[in-house]
Amino acid sequence: MQIIDGKKISQEIKDEVKEEVAQLKAEGKDIALAVIQVGADPASSVYVRNKKRACEYVGIESISYELPEETTQEELMAIVDKCNKDPKINGILVQLPLPKHLDEDEVLLAIDPKKDVDGFHPVSVGNMVIGEKGFLPCTPAGVIQLLKRSGVEIDGKECVVVGRSNIVGKPMAMLLLRENGTVTVCHSHTKDLKEVCKRADILVVAIGKPKFIDDSYVKDGAVVIDVGIHRNENNKLCGDVDYDKVAPKTSAITPVPGGVGPMTIAMLMKNCVESKKLFGE
Ligand code: NDP
Repeated sequence: MQIIDGKKISQEIKDEVKEEVAQLKAEGKDIALAVIQVGADPASSVYVRNKKRACEYVGIESISYELPEETTQEELMAIVDKCNKDPKINGILVQLPLPKHLDEDEVLLAIDPKKDVDGFHPVSVGNMVIGEKGFLPCTPAGVIQLLKRSGVEIDGKECVVVGRSNIVGKPMAMLLLRENGTVTVCHSHTKDLKEVCKRADILVVAIGKPKFIDDSYVKDGAVVIDVGIHRNENNKLCGDVDYDKVAPKTSAITPVPGGVGPMTIAMLMKNCVESKKLFGE
């Protein structure tokens, strides 16, 4: 059984990005990412801090907007507009979730698709579906990298994705399809989830329920990717998969922490470079 090491693979990707950033810098091309956070949700603050740290590591400038909780929709839209128009900024990241009084969809839709490094804008989603160049959403794109760089063949394999959210499940299914997997997507209306999961050569779980998937959902020798992140009462992290029960049955599995988690930020850094290369001045 192979433990897929997301820490190591994400580090490899960040080092590749660092090299590319240095090359672009040598040509006089600097890269900047605007990071917009509204309010001070502790989990969001940790993510934002980690994103800024990754920027520093690879040599991308991060331009921080730390806005108070009571920021209005108009104020936030004005900042997005300013970032859209600033030629120095290559990527715009609005940390989600936004406080409840703000309209998330309107904000994400306002981001210039050429700076949509999170890959959530409908233009980016459309490009992903038709296979055009553009930004891929970071978490599912990170999963594809984990599989490829661990030597897991996707072509022709039975792939089952549990979860159909816009940020993980749906794009995950699309990216596996692009790699020629045969893809089934499961959700809360799926009948006999266990039997469907047991068909999977590659099982990707993004269900948002701690340790939901145990060994009875997994075929012998399957590859299991756990996207879930939860903090339990002892402040320990766990995933959507019951790792201790499932791991012995698999040929390869991602742990939590240290699996999918670190990949998301590495792919964000990659998207910032992509932005400069595709659209930068
Ligand atoms: P959502 O809550 O948006 O989506 C969960 C999905 O799981 C839904 O499609 C839902 O179905 C489905 N689901 C829920 N219960 C069941 C069930 N009993 N049987 C079958 N399907 C079910 O979650 P996200 O996609 O945003 O996130 C999933 C997990 O991944 C979370 O733990 C989150 O913290 C983590 N995550 C990790 C990231 C990382 O960087 N590693 C990034 C993003 C998320 P339906 O649509 O029918 O309601």
